Amino acid sequence: MWDNPGKAHRFFILCFLLTVCTKVCQSSGYFELQLISVENPRGQLLNGDCCDSEGRQADGNCGLDECDTYFRVCLKEYQQEVKIGGPCTYGLEITKVIGGNTFQFRGSQKGSHDTGKIVIPFQFSWPQDYTLIVEAWDKDNGTHGSDDELLIERSIYKGKINPGEGKQPVEHRSFIATIKYTMRVRCDEHYYGMRCNNVCRPRDDYFGHYVCDHFGKRHCIEGWEGEDCKTAICKQGCSSLHGTCSTPGECK
Ligand code: CA
Ligand code: CA
Repeated sequence: MWDNPGKAHRFFILCFLLTVCTKVCQSSGYFELQLISVENPRGQLLNGDCCDSEGRQADGNCGLDECDTYFRVCLKEYQQEVKIGGPCTYGLEITKVIGGNTFQFRGSQKGSHDTGKIVIPFQFSWPQDYTLIVEAWDKDNGTHGSDDELLIERSIYKGKINPGEGKQPVEHRSFIATIKYTMRVRCDEHYYGMRCNNVCRPRDDYFGHYVCDHFGKRHCIEGWEGEDCKTAICKQGCSSLHGTCSTPGECK
């Protein structure tokens, strides 16, 4: 069959990878963070400095040059003691500048950062436990020294979250700023379960005849039965020994 041993070898490696992939890659979903509002009334950084204005006004507020606020959202495994600088194992999303000192989102329109919606997709079995680090930063053009000094606020949240429609509200409040957001995890289309690893794609062809319910369980289309709903249910009265059928309601 194989005129070339190298070709055969490559073929078997490909088969192996496909087998591994269908087992591991069959999970899919996304973590969705919806920013609701940011209130930084004086336009300050976490260290108390002004974001951009040189001096303060008489009322203690920073001047007219507002913070250029962008977000960095880091999602990773549950950590008892959260490491700030470590890798974002589940995903990282950094937005463009999305507001000044104080702003809010309604999150109604479709889109990404313009509506304050930050999405981190995943292609692994959702572990349920997680750590989330939400940071607001001020964007500068290298005029304010090191970027590390430009942190406005950091909100750390960890716990357990299951996929679902409901949005979990979070409010982070400090002397500098208040950040409000909601979060949820959702499975992609055709993926179900608490880990988004239960796959069900409705089909009506040679490989099966079924639809999927809300839990990802297969339900045979009328006239079909069996594990993959591939067996036609023959005409009533058709002999189970001598009769057969390839389409429902038939008897040969
Ligand atoms: Ca500015
Ligand atoms: Ca700035």
